[in-house]
Amino acid sequence: MSKQTDNQVLVVGAGPAGLRAAMDLAEFGIHVLLVEKRGELGGAPTRWKYHSLAPDFTPTEQVLGPMIEFCESSELVEVKKNCTITEFGGEAGNFRVTIKSPEGTERRNVSAVIVATGFEHFDASVDPRYSYGKAPNVIGINELEVMLSQGKVTGHDGKVPKRVAFVFCVGSRDRSTNPWCCTVCCGVSIKQAIELKQLLKDVQVYMIYMDIRTVGLWEKLYWDSMEKYGINYIRGRVGEVYYTGEKLLVKGEDTLVRGPFEVLFDMVVLAVGIEPGEGTKQISKLLGLRVNEYGFLAPRIPNVHFDSGKEGIYLAGACVAPMSVEESIAEGSAAAMQAAKMVAKLKVRV
Ligand SMILES: Cc1cc2nc3c(=O)[nH]c(=O)nc-3n(C[C@H](O)[C@H](O)[C@H](O)COP(=O)(O)OP(=O)(O)OC[C@H]3O[C@@H](n4cnc5c(N)ncnc54)[C@H](O)[C@@H]3O)c2cc1C
Ligand code: SF4
Repeated sequence: MSKQTDNQVLVVGAGPAGLRAAMDLAEFGIHVLLVEKRGELGGAPTRWKYHSLAPDFTPTEQVLGPMIEFCESSELVEVKKNCTITEFGGEAGNFRVTIKSPEGTERRNVSAVIVATGFEHFDASVDPRYSYGKAPNVIGINELEVMLSQGKVTGHDGKVPKRVAFVFCVGSRDRSTNPWCCTVCCGVSIKQAIELKQLLKDVQVYMIYMDIRTVGLWEKLYWDSMEKYGINYIRGRVGEVYYTGEKLLVKGEDTLVRGPFEVLFDMVVLAVGIEPGEGTKQISKLLGLRVNEYGFLAPRIPNVHFDSGKEGIYLAGACVAPMSVEESIAEGSAAAMQAAKMVAKLKVRV
């Protein structure tokens, strides 16, 4: 390990994982350089204006607000928005990075790096079955989240939908697109269906699913959705979403009664999955990090996410695997602890 420079830790990505990592490090008294490629902090929940968070309908602001405020105001956190890392070299304890901003580039030295570059939503237009991007009123759960946060859910013609279908596992658990399970879309869809029922008095909601994966404490959402809100479940696979010129005809197979179904809806909401984004690809190439067969960052041992296998570089959040906000925050803290240990070791050596 080479000589210490300024003991600053670079955190790449300011979603729930990166924000928590930055906050924990600063609370330890460690300087943080928080680099975010977008113009705002908060990651996917801010970008897609998540109205509330599963499993408890917690307002997103309540979870992310304190972390964003802390990072924006702490003297120990240097926030760099609209920035990316373009060059990287050196070694643990003395990494050299070049940061590109709209104003130009600057070179900095950092002791350790936390990569928290998160995910992108699956682009449903890739799979023609769902007519996403072609038929009106076929939207993703990310787009419904924006409508819910505005308190107004309407179709393209401004009409309030009377019958809504959620289609699960869109772009997930499917070998022709992404074979993995996105782990949160069942819970998020059910949370949204309940919010839809609360918002629109007479709406009928149908959930078309392969399996319901509401693990741990998220299971309550499932039972409440049926028992308290009368949400209907169809176990099946969707073969086609067809626009009749007025409504959306959803054709598929009911896998419980083993027969075809065709139902007309006003709106179809696709539970689009989680996949590695361009930002994760970019950083993995630049830092020489391993990725798995799916493009997520691959920890040295799959069960120990923070360990990138490269000394001084730690991983956190959905850049490693699909996960919930609570898991992303916990991973941010875990990575911060590893970076703090490295900084502490360097201080002893000085
Ligand atoms: C529709 C939907 C709804 C969801 N709702 C819930 C919910 O209700 N409850 C829940 O627990 N979970 C929910 N989730 C999951 C939740 O969004 C994730 O767990 C969480 O956002 C992951 O946090 P993260 O910090 O790892 O990544 P992200 O939130 O993706 O943040 C990563 C950040 O890194 C930045 N970045 C990327 N690449 C670079 C780069 N190269 N350089 C600089 N910056 C970069 C990005 O711009 C982004 O700001 C939902 C997911 C989906 C798909
Ligand atoms: S979380 Fe649910 S909707 Fe998402 S891929 Fe897994 S089973 Fe499908």
